[in-house]
Amino acid sequence: MKNSDSEKNDLYNELLITLSINCEECCGICCTALYYTKMDGFPEDKAAGKPCGNLKDDFKCSIHNDLVDYKLKGCMAYDCFGAGQKVTQEIYRGLDWKKNPEAADQMFQVFLIVYQLHQMLWYLIQAKTILIDNTIKIDIHNLIEENGKMTQMGPEEIIKLDLEQYRDRVNHILKETCKAVHSEIADNNHSIDCMGKSFKKQNLDGKDFSMTLLIAADFEGCSLNKTNFLGADMRDTNFRNTDLSKSLFLTQMQINTAMGNDNTKLPEYLTMPERWR
Ligand code: SF4
Ligand code: SF4
Repeated sequence: MKNSDSEKNDLYNELLITLSINCEECCGICCTALYYTKMDGFPEDKAAGKPCGNLKDDFKCSIHNDLVDYKLKGCMAYDCFGAGQKVTQEIYRGLDWKKNPEAADQMFQVFLIVYQLHQMLWYLIQAKTILIDNTIKIDIHNLIEENGKMTQMGPEEIIKLDLEQYRDRVNHILKETCKAVHSEIADNNHSIDCMGKSFKKQNLDGKDFSMTLLIAADFEGCSLNKTNFLGADMRDTNFRNTDLSKSLFLTQMQINTAMGNDNTKLPEYLTMPERWR
């Protein structure tokens, strides 16, 4: 018989799977609901709520296989933490905004809220797996349960949620988690701007790079055991020939914007971008 800790771990692993995008089960919500610009690596300057010109009637992207050639970094990097399929299939039970234009605005609003809830859920699950023995774990578990209840509500209720107070509690817990991890390792050298900096082959075990600008920084060959990347900006950060499998708080979107190769090792819950191969 399984003990309650291993049951909880199974639950967290199942939840992590639901936070991976499944565009086949979605109605192209991100390509429609979001405002985006050419400068951020999207095909055009587009208002929120207007479908991208490359979105086909079946909600597939007509240039999906050419995103690399067109250098559409924004499209390649975007990751909704599974909010798209959750909204389409569970909250709206398979309805799409095209056949139901009267529901479109509400659906897009709901998507933006569920996206934020799923992003917080992602970080909470990471926090839960990092901490070994700590009372914070109980608070994290409660926040995870609360999150699940919120995304099971109907659209009208979701729109009325007080997201700010939930976010404040999540941020508090994440700060406590980072403190607990870094007090173990005693890293006090937190700088917030490391743009373009070379760390090549350094031992950065346990370093805190949370919320740091790491754009085009070079981490090739570094040791990154328990290195904290929570919220770090990793656009064009070099992780070729680098083991990130034990780094903390990485998201798929960060990885999608970074540079790596076949020799880059990722945590098992993240997928290697095609263009790295
Ligand atoms: S919202 Fe998410 S699931 Fe839907 S198309 Fe965009 S990335 Fe895919
Ligand atoms: S180019 Fe494709 S992936 Fe990018 S926004 Fe348009 S439809 Fe979506």
